Amino acid sequence: MTNKTVTEQHVVIWFRSDLRVVDNTALNHAIDSGLPIIALFIATPMQWHQHNIAAVQVDFIHRRLQVLKQQLAKRNIPLQVIEVNDFAESVHVIDQVCFDYNAVHVFANKQYPINEQQRDNSVGELIAKKGIKFSIFDDNYILQPETVLTRDGELFKVFTPFRNAWIKRFTLSPSYPVTKKSDIVTSDAVIKLLSISNPIKAFNYPIIDSVLWPVDEETIAQRLETFFETKAETYHQNRDFPAIDGTSCLSPYLAIGALSARQCLYQLLQHFPNALEINKDDGAFTWLNEIVWREFYGHLLHRYPELSQYQPFQKFTQFVQWKDDAVLLKAWQEGKTGFPIVDAAMRQLRSTGWMHNRLRMITASFLTKDLLCDWRVGEQWFMQHLIDGDFASNNGGWQWAASTGTDAQPYFRVFNPTLQGQRFDPKGDFIRTWVKELEHVPDKYIHTPHQWASAESLNYPLPIVDHKEARLIAIESFKQAKAYM
Ligand code: FAD
Repeated sequence: MTNKTVTEQHVVIWFRSDLRVVDNTALNHAIDSGLPIIALFIATPMQWHQHNIAAVQVDFIHRRLQVLKQQLAKRNIPLQVIEVNDFAESVHVIDQVCFDYNAVHVFANKQYPINEQQRDNSVGELIAKKGIKFSIFDDNYILQPETVLTRDGELFKVFTPFRNAWIKRFTLSPSYPVTKKSDIVTSDAVIKLLSISNPIKAFNYPIIDSVLWPVDEETIAQRLETFFETKAETYHQNRDFPAIDGTSCLSPYLAIGALSARQCLYQLLQHFPNALEINKDDGAFTWLNEIVWREFYGHLLHRYPELSQYQPFQKFTQFVQWKDDAVLLKAWQEGKTGFPIVDAAMRQLRSTGWMHNRLRMITASFLTKDLLCDWRVGEQWFMQHLIDGDFASNNGGWQWAASTGTDAQPYFRVFNPTLQGQRFDPKGDFIRTWVKELEHVPDKYIHTPHQWASAESLNYPLPIVDHKEARLIAIESFKQAKAYM
């Protein structure tokens, strides 16, 4: 099927979770083709990605697309943004765009959740019938999935040996992979599209403003630079304290691909050439370690499609009898559990889309152990609210906290939310910011306000569970599940 109106051949670059022009493998290959390029982004807000998507992330993506459109236009690449209702429709959009622009080749970077992979298979099959090539690249991780393996060719199921093997395998490419510089050719169709300067239409999806997160290239690069200049050295000391601005806050950019993990690593090694040397007392190494966690979860998702289907990694945990109490769940979601550190974190998540890593661990442990609620419910809640929602990292984090995952903390180790608060927010600075009712509670009672003599004056709930009891019940439930298996 050749389009009669457009005779010149084109190629299509299909952007998904890689919203950048710098260091973009698929884009570089499209440029290498030497043909005029049409860029495409297909928004499926009602069924975005395999899983839920937060309204704040939709807004973030929408804002980033405006920047991407301008950056591409400077390179003679017009960006088309098309909204559809579901993945099936997106397959037809690709087909139609190929037809409209007489495209001979479509380029994209891989997405690993199973629905995305199935969508890509459908696209590949459909356009192959018309003689159009579909090339898809591993771009999202520094080392490609299936390349960090044990001597027997198996995937590591535990993080530390994975990390060690990852470091051994890693070699820094001598040149930093930027956008290809070659002149990008135009065509009549490209010139026509570039001359239309409409802003990208708002998506048909409830939006929460993401303006706290700048989307322009300079500010993102500056954030990375500032992290290395001012925070990286003390990262290992500060990273667990939510009241301290001690981490990079780059995950939203990594999640939508406004920044690549390679860019992060390249800059890290420019500032700290020894960052690859294992040393837990070193900020740069500790940060690298976190980047490798991201790789670990991505590699697992690629190997085990059942993770995309909400299966627990530890098979016995499918027999855990979750309580799934709707009242308790609602209290957790609304930040009204009576455990100040949990409530502060959950309220911040709802109003901003952000939660600190330590608090993700505490709130996930609380939901799954203290409330004995199925981890999948929490996993979805996070995806519906996080600005950095990323299926692999979120699934990995939840399964870790719930003791259902690979490398899980053993099920009998249960976080004590009060002790966690006392340790990581000792004076309650973070709590006071988000739980206004507790603003004037003395430091001594900030983690146990119900024990304060004036507790009745507070409009704040009593603890919804007794942690000691809840802990024993959770451990027993896991024990029974193990015995059942
Ligand atoms: P930094 O501390 O500066 O770390 C640098 C980068 O390393 C991060 O931007 C992130 O890309 C990566 N990273 C750090 N910690 C982890 C980790 N534990 N697992 C995987 N990658 C990591 N991260 C997401 O990006 N998206 C999610 O949806 C997500 N959900 C999570 C759910 C739970 C229950 C838990 C426990 C963790 C989750 N994480 C998720 C991981 C982690 O909490 C965030 O990546 C981190 O808080 C982001 O803050 P930062 O950019 O300041 O990270």
